[in-house]
Amino acid sequence: MESYNFAPGPAALPQVVKQELINELSDHLDDQLSILEISHRSDSFVSLINKTQDSIRRLFNLDDDFAVIFVSGGTTMQFALTPMNFAIQQKKVAMIDSGQFAKRALTMAQEVPHVQAEFLDSTKDDHYTRLPLIPSNINSDQYDYLHLTINNTVEGTCYHEGMYPDFNLPVVADMTSCLGEENIDLNRFQMVISSTQKNLGIAGLTIVILRKSWVKSANLELPTIMQYQTFIDSNSLVNTPPVFPIFATSKMLDWIENNGGVAEMDHRARERAQLLYDFLDDSKKYSAPVKISDRSIANVVFTTGDDQKDLDLASRAAKAGLYSIKGYRGFGGLRASLYNGMPIEGVQALVKFLGEY
Ligand SMILES: *Cc1c(COP(=O)(O)O)cnc(C)c1O
Repeated sequence: MESYNFAPGPAALPQVVKQELINELSDHLDDQLSILEISHRSDSFVSLINKTQDSIRRLFNLDDDFAVIFVSGGTTMQFALTPMNFAIQQKKVAMIDSGQFAKRALTMAQEVPHVQAEFLDSTKDDHYTRLPLIPSNINSDQYDYLHLTINNTVEGTCYHEGMYPDFNLPVVADMTSCLGEENIDLNRFQMVISSTQKNLGIAGLTIVILRKSWVKSANLELPTIMQYQTFIDSNSLVNTPPVFPIFATSKMLDWIENNGGVAEMDHRARERAQLLYDFLDDSKKYSAPVKISDRSIANVVFTTGDDQKDLDLASRAAKAGLYSIKGYRGFGGLRASLYNGMPIEGVQALVKFLGEY
């Protein structure tokens, strides 16, 4: 039986990438050592870091002002580091309540001493089935920056290209569940954050893309390990970085590039999502509650309309080899995450299963 992993992260890897990682574990990458054993100061690892940064620059058409750094601690750690580094003039961060990860970002920014974070808008009352508009009338006299969650992994919404106003202040984009899958111009942002366990590799690594010109204005009173400038200056080698996750991400980026780049990933993601949304919208048994224009192509949220039935369906799906379609804990319903590692055949199998359930 063919099985498919619809988990929201850690998530499915393309079969060929998984096989490559398995094969290369025992390969002698450097002086007879495996990737699991090599020094992070070795020539071969330093060239791996440089190659991975170059891939990111190419894939996302980054202009020269951007630095690409590799950090551990997940996107969640960035929720604290970003305000610590950048909320230093107004000491205020603007946020938009688009769901779970926006709320977490707000909570963690508020934990930083002397920093205020506030939601300018929320769609909580609609159970996040649509997105708040991104305000265009805020500026850097009021807030140090605006934090946006681009793809809302739990709620299944996404700010697609075309939904962004011109900004009058720095914008930090949490793109953890869409970077490398949906084609969004990054050059409008000051900073982009994505841990890699969704579309770009395995758990343990966070890619941070940020403007060097902005980092120049960052807080110099923090311990140096918490300053972005330290990571830029040391080429992400301030201490031992997550060597194997960086290796996995480099393989994933190669795979994306060899398969037509982010534009092609976007095209495939739309095809996968469309197949499932069309089925759900036509069906009498299921509904997909998110407003059509705001629907995510990475995380498809749906329901039978009955909590017990949703749970039963998810557990039967798992027995049929269709794993992890249960909705986020506390949010309910069902969710299929369709990242880069999900082949269209997986969605076809899911649609067939849902039709027969
Ligand atoms: C998964 C996710 C996070 C949390 O990432 P961690 O790497 O677990 O810290 C944050 N934001 C979004 C949008 C996510 O999808």
